Amino acid sequence: MRILFRDVRLVDASCDTIGCLLVDGGLIEALLPEGTDPLSVGAERTVASPRGSVLLPAFVELHAHFRDPGFPEKETLESGSLAAAAGGYGTVVCMANTKPVLDDPALARDLADRARERGLIDLFPALSLTRGMEGRDPGHLEALRGAGGGADLPIRADLPVRILSEDGRDVADDAVFLKALRLAAGLGLTVSCHCDSGGEDAATARAIALAAEAKCRLHIAHVSTAVALDAVRRAKAAGQAVTCEVSPHHLVLTEADAARLGSDGPGRVNPPLRSEADRLALIKGILDGTVDAIATDHAPHTAADKAAGAPGFTGLETAFAACKTELVDSGLIGLSRLSSLMSANPARILGLSDRGRLEAGTRADLVLVDPFASYAVDPSAFRSKGRNSPFSGRVLRGRVLAAYHGGESVHDSRSVT
Ligand SMILES: [Zn+2]
Repeated sequence: MRILFRDVRLVDASCDTIGCLLVDGGLIEALLPEGTDPLSVGAERTVASPRGSVLLPAFVELHAHFRDPGFPEKETLESGSLAAAAGGYGTVVCMANTKPVLDDPALARDLADRARERGLIDLFPALSLTRGMEGRDPGHLEALRGAGGGADLPIRADLPVRILSEDGRDVADDAVFLKALRLAAGLGLTVSCHCDSGGEDAATARAIALAAEAKCRLHIAHVSTAVALDAVRRAKAAGQAVTCEVSPHHLVLTEADAARLGSDGPGRVNPPLRSEADRLALIKGILDGTVDAIATDHAPHTAADKAAGAPGFTGLETAFAACKTELVDSGLIGLSRLSSLMSANPARILGLSDRGRLEAGTRADLVLVDPFASYAVDPSAFRSKGRNSPFSGRVLRGRVLAAYHGGESVHDSRSVT
């Protein structure tokens, strides 16, 4: 099917122009001038976009919790995928702290296969660094190697795994951590460290030091302090292969919001909402390029679990609006830079060169947004089962109108569902 998205503002990490986008067979075929005649390019279908709307590459999520398998009361692959599509995400890395833990490549492949059959998003499950996330044995990573089994043979090409992560735990034992990092490096995989235990600043410094020793690509999840971000900045300056993400809630909210929401209940998250000085340091990191990506750490919980102090926020359906309002409407960055933080850079971190930009030959995973629509966040309208949003009731500016996965419509907020 040849589809022409007509006369719309096209924005990605390197372009911001009015034009048309031609899609064929699920891939972007060409960016064409405004006013292109659909007949002249053989379009079988055209998509008209509302005045002022913007077509971007779909967002790429480096860090979400889909709770599947094991916690269907919090989220499932189905509800998480619907939430992702509604938030404009076309690709998601889901974390391994499920039940059972994702330490088996067959489990990861099953999740990714189910996601592909459903057709809403592409899923790249993170596998745990140690078996059962018990912090003792990274031997399960050996099973990821291709046939032949040499120590530096990369991960089997058929496995949908790009990231390894112990999630909030990080491996306590240095020797085990180092062994896991070396195995990951041999497999060509990136390790995402959450640096939640023992204090974020110290945990970040430790992860950077061990990854340097193991020569392993490191990604620091949800950086939230000025000191931790500075450690990333210095490691990058020294030439180490390290990237980092920040979360929308740490960019927008502070400890004052946590207190207002209830620091032990609805306002609880790991790492916690920080000081205004830390928040401003994260924004500075976005401006100077230290921050590579924005990732939600989407962590859905039931109302009862959240009231009992379960940490985390549901985030997929508010990320774009929160970041657009905080970063773009304030004049700090343009939509193009936001696109690099939410699409191009996370795709690059995952080693996925087939997405994240509006370029010929890449996947037609697209999101159409109205950057000017203002609305109060209403968690009861979320597709996610998690209603634990710290932005509940807050007025944000920027709405996801529609999402396309491989050129197919997977979400349309304008139609009745
Ligand atoms: Zn997380």
